[in-house]
Amino acid sequence: MTTENIRGFDSLAVHAGQEFDPTTGAVIPPVHFSTTYAQDGVGGLRQGYEYGRSGNPTRTSLQTQLAAIEGGRHALSFASGLAAEDALLRAVLQPGDEVLLGNDVYGGTYRLIARILGPWGVKLRVVDMSDANAVAAAIEERAPQIVWVETPSNPLLRITDIAELARVSHAAGALVVVDNTFASPALQQPLALGADVVVHSTTKYLGGHSDVVGGALVLNDDELAEKAKFLQFAAGAVSGPLDAWLTTRGIKTLGIRMQRHSENGQAVADFLAGHGAVARVYYPGLASHPGHEIAARQMSAFGGIVSLALADAAAARRFAESTRVFTLAESLGGVESLLNYPDEMTHASVRGTELAVPEEVIRLSVGIESAEDLLADLEQALAGL
Ligand SMILES: *Cc1c(COP(=O)(O)O)cnc(C)c1O
Repeated sequence: MTTENIRGFDSLAVHAGQEFDPTTGAVIPPVHFSTTYAQDGVGGLRQGYEYGRSGNPTRTSLQTQLAAIEGGRHALSFASGLAAEDALLRAVLQPGDEVLLGNDVYGGTYRLIARILGPWGVKLRVVDMSDANAVAAAIEERAPQIVWVETPSNPLLRITDIAELARVSHAAGALVVVDNTFASPALQQPLALGADVVVHSTTKYLGGHSDVVGGALVLNDDELAEKAKFLQFAAGAVSGPLDAWLTTRGIKTLGIRMQRHSENGQAVADFLAGHGAVARVYYPGLASHPGHEIAARQMSAFGGIVSLALADAAAARRFAESTRVFTLAESLGGVESLLNYPDEMTHASVRGTELAVPEEVIRLSVGIESAEDLLADLEQALAGL
C-alpha cells in the first residue's frame, strides 16, 4: 500500500511508511532489530542500510509516518523529546546565538538551553508568547536565531497565533520552532501555518499509551534537515527499533484518540468552570479563555489538557492526593487520566525562575475513559477540600 491515493489525516496515520513486508506479505512490517547489514561487496548496501545508528528500517517507517501526519518533507526520530530538541538546537546555533523562549514552555526545554547549552555560549531570553507586542519588541531588540513556542503551552494552556509569530519572526530572520506535543498533528499543523520546525515529545499523545519514550523533529528545509540528520547520526540519540515500532502503532489511532481526549477535556473543563471550589480553569475550549478565538482558528479541537487553580497551595496538594481515577503521576497524553502538581513535579526544575508555575495550579491529562467516571472522581475530590 503506497500513500499515492490517500490524503486524509487518519489514512496517512494508518498507512504512511507501513507497506506490507514484500518477502512474507505480513501486513504489519516486521520490527528490525539487526544492528548491521550484509553488504554485496565492499560498500554495496542494499537499501542504504549499514549500521543501526545511521539507519534502521523500523525507524525509517516511523519517520515516513511522522512526516506524512505533520505535512512535512523530513522527519527524524530520537530517543526522547529532549534528544530531538538538543539535536535541533545544536544543528542551528553557534556560540553567541540567542533563543527567544515562551515563558511557560516545558521545564526541561528551559533547562536544556539554560544549563546545557548556556555554558557553551548560547543565550536565552524568555517572553510571554501570547503577548504579541512583547514578542515583537523582543525579536526586534534581540535578533534571536530561534523563536521557540509551545501552543497550547504547558501547563497554563496559553495560546500563540502561529501564523502571526512566523510572520514577525521571519521578518527578523529567525527560525520558528513549535513544540506541538500538546495539540499533536491531529489537531494542529504548525508547518502549514508558517512554522519552520515542529518538535514532539512522542512520549505523550503520539505514542499515546504511556509505554514508550521518544521524540521527533519534522521540517521542510532540506539543508537544515541534513544538519539535524547529521547530529542524529553523529551524536547518536536515535530511537531503538521497538520504541520506534510502539510509536508507529500509537500514531495509527492518534486521530480518534485526540477526538475523545478533546471531548472529555471539554466536559472536564465545563464541569470545573461551574464548581465553586475551583478558582480558575485553563482550557482553550472555554469561551472565556483569552486565546479561545485563535485556538479555534488554528486547532481543529482543543485537546485533553486542562489545568485548574484552587484556593491555595494546600488545597491543590490535598486535591492532588485525593483523586481515584486520575492517577497522580508525571507525563501526559496517554489513554489513562493523570494528575500532576507542576510546582513540585514536572516544573520543579523551573521553580524560582521566570517559568515558575503558580503553586495553586494542578494540571490534568484527561484520558479516554468514560466521561462520567472522570467527572464523578473530580467531584468527590473537590468535595473533600
Ligand atoms: C514531555 C515534553 C517534552 C520532553 O520530552 P521527553 O520525551 O520527556 O524528552 C518536551 N515538550 C513537551 C511539551 C513535553 O510535554
